[in-house]
Amino acid sequence: MSENTALDITLQVMEIERFAIHDGPGIRSVIFLQGCPLRCPWCANPESQQAAPMLMHQNKSCVFCGLCAAFCPREAIKVKEMSFCIDRSRCAGCMTCEKNCPNEAIRFSSHRMSIGEILSILRRDDPYYEESGGGITISGGEPFFQFSGLMPLVQVLKKYGYHVCLETCGQAALSQFKAASPYIDCFLYDMKHTDENILRRSTGGNLPQIMENLRFLCDRDPGRVVLRTPVIPGFNYDRETLQRMAQLAKALDIPEIHYLPFHTLGKGKYEQLDRPYSFAEEKMLTEQELKPYAEYARSLGLAAYIGG
Ligand code: SF4
Ligand code: SF4
Repeated sequence: MSENTALDITLQVMEIERFAIHDGPGIRSVIFLQGCPLRCPWCANPESQQAAPMLMHQNKSCVFCGLCAAFCPREAIKVKEMSFCIDRSRCAGCMTCEKNCPNEAIRFSSHRMSIGEILSILRRDDPYYEESGGGITISGGEPFFQFSGLMPLVQVLKKYGYHVCLETCGQAALSQFKAASPYIDCFLYDMKHTDENILRRSTGGNLPQIMENLRFLCDRDPGRVVLRTPVIPGFNYDRETLQRMAQLAKALDIPEIHYLPFHTLGKGKYEQLDRPYSFAEEKMLTEQELKPYAEYARSLGLAAYIGG
């Protein structure tokens, strides 16, 4: 494929975050892609889970002017006095409401962007990547969910000489991992549980497939992999499970593990999506609470960090 053709390929992009420092080495831009095969109920980015962009309504920015309802061709929105109501089953995703809202109270979770457009944003920060030993991180959602766009994206990024990290939940076909692997410098590999049944029940995750892909990466070069475990109360926040993560990293020669403390920062997004959030009352975990697990991992010879 010629470079010009690749630059025209589009992906469903949620956001490009500039100057990120927790998603790989140095200063990075993080491309968040729409779509994920898992359904983690604690997800901090619930708007990323569906394949299609999700309509999000922010009550605090809404002035209840009714313009969105007036322009909606499906009569999916009702605005009355101080209330905004959407019938999502009627919505066709045309984004007319988003375009006509004067206050940016409606926004869709992602928009189509060509690789050329993505690249023009990334290139603005070239001096920072170079200075800091940073680069580009692709995250989501799950980046492999848009595999047909992901491949030309990583190829173009490599062609431009970027250091590329990919954050993944590991749930994708092995053939896709094999195809993308030559273009990725570092895999931030989310490992949520080592119990197949618990993982499936809570998230829909397929542990044998996740392990198959992890083993493939580690057989080739475990030094490219960072194991990341989001620590979630009532799911994996127990000594045995968290120590088992470190033992897994050790057994596969993965040099680095991150324990990511549970937080509720995504709570507002559930409200914007009209979705219940079952972790709303759960207490956030502190660095102090996860310290013993990081220390245990270090005792096995791993580099261990709390947070990204
Ligand atoms: S157009 Fe925007 S500000 Fe006006 S009612 Fe709709 S969402 Fe609210
Ligand atoms: S996206 Fe289109 S169909 Fe859906 S609520 Fe907005 S204007 Fe109506």
